[in-house]
Amino acid sequence: MSVHTHSRGLLVMKFGGTSVGDVTAVQHVLNIVHEARTTWPAMVVVASALSGVTETLLTQAYKVAQGDDSEVETTLQYLHERHHQLLTAFVSDRKMQQAVGEEIERLLQRLASLWQAIAVLGEASPRALDAVAGMGERMSVRVLAAALNTAGIRAEAIDATEIIVTDRQFQSAHPDMAATQLKVNTLLRPRLADGIVPVITGYIGATPEGIPTTLGRGGSDYSAAILAAALHADEVWIWTDVNGVMTADPRLIPEAQTIPRLTYREVAELAYFGAKVLHPKTIRPIIEAGIRLRVLNTFNPSHPGSEIVGDEPSILDGVIKAVTAVRHQRLVTVEGRGMLGVPGVAARTFTAVARTGTSVPLISQASSEQSICFAVPADTADKIVAALEQEFAKEIERRDIDRVWASDEVVILTVVGSGMQHIPGVAGRVFGALGAQGVNVIAIAQGSSEVSISLVVKAEDLQVGLRALHGLIRI
Ligand code: ADP
Ligand code: ASP
Ligand code: MG
Repeated sequence: MSVHTHSRGLLVMKFGGTSVGDVTAVQHVLNIVHEARTTWPAMVVVASALSGVTETLLTQAYKVAQGDDSEVETTLQYLHERHHQLLTAFVSDRKMQQAVGEEIERLLQRLASLWQAIAVLGEASPRALDAVAGMGERMSVRVLAAALNTAGIRAEAIDATEIIVTDRQFQSAHPDMAATQLKVNTLLRPRLADGIVPVITGYIGATPEGIPTTLGRGGSDYSAAILAAALHADEVWIWTDVNGVMTADPRLIPEAQTIPRLTYREVAELAYFGAKVLHPKTIRPIIEAGIRLRVLNTFNPSHPGSEIVGDEPSILDGVIKAVTAVRHQRLVTVEGRGMLGVPGVAARTFTAVARTGTSVPLISQASSEQSICFAVPADTADKIVAALEQEFAKEIERRDIDRVWASDEVVILTVVGSGMQHIPGVAGRVFGALGAQGVNVIAIAQGSSEVSISLVVKAEDLQVGLRALHGLIRI
């Protein structure tokens, strides 16, 4: 790992769910922190819940809301066992083991009460779901901090509800950076000065009144970025279960390779268009603060992984570096020959969509101005069509708008690479590769930052299309 360790200030390391998921993983984490400790004077660890735990917590919440509490006891038992397995493996001191064990029990009791409250109400509100979902991280950091202490690294578990201040947008809360900065200064800085490694929950925060929130699924990466920005850290290392950012999701394209260097804009585009390896909001606070970012493999720590850098002419070379897929989408089209005469039709369309609380990942450039076409998550399409039919009821009656309709399920395939816009023929190669495999392109959109081109294809063309585009990659 020594190859990564050249700067000497403050390092934020984030470990994802699989990285803290079992005994083998946590052993790697201890080794990684231990080695980094020898070169970095100050260090913060951000941790996710144990793999699968957040999903388990939310699934139970939905079940009890439906009146089914048959699995509550076995789930509590299962969560107890997952955490105790790590405690017994890594914490030898009886007293410490008991103290942390009691804290886990207290959190599990709280969880049981929350599930019970949801059961009584028969409804899981976003606020209640956030209180439930954050329990995984609260448990994991306690176990991890105890394991680090046992390994001779002074560490302290901290709930980010004490530090990351957010608005009340439950399930995808937005941080208040100024308020967070104050908490970081009063709560984290003194600990760092004392040589303690704070082990902070990813994913969660709290409103100014202290109501727990979450930053959205996969949000621990974002937590690391927020804390790093507030701390003016030198680097953020995201430790996950693959060798960095790859040319495609290795679960879909097994021969995908690591991309050794890519720009902030490239990685932001990749994350936005479905590469789960980084939460899409991670990049912004890091760019703004000029912090270096690496993505590394907990299970293969000597692999150099990926380095994310600012735009550099040497890598703005127009090659396609990666391809991603966003699944389970449908295309909504508003069309009619009289649309040109309808004032503000685009603005009204997207305002009506926004009112449904849906975000639109892609708007396609229509060849004529007689239609507007955009992608939405498949399960929201019917609701959106209904909202638009209502918005344009008059225009539909007058036949200015002929119809509003949603396609069958589609996927958005996106090719990413800086400088593509300067290279003639990239779009041609993309279409050629798909055409050669008989994949029909239903719609196309160029990313706003011009480092990507997105193509909408039928859901059943996912594998063939992805593979054809992956064949164009040169890194
Ligand atoms: P963590 O729990 O560490 O946050 P995630 O499961 O959220 O891990 O993200 C890592 C996963 O992202 C990988 O296991 C991989 O399957 C998936 N992934 C999707 N696209 C990419 C990509 N382009 N490069 C690397 N991993 C990707
Ligand atoms: N544990 C949370 C989730 O599963 C956050 C994360 O893993 O980043 O969504
Ligand atoms: Mg993740």
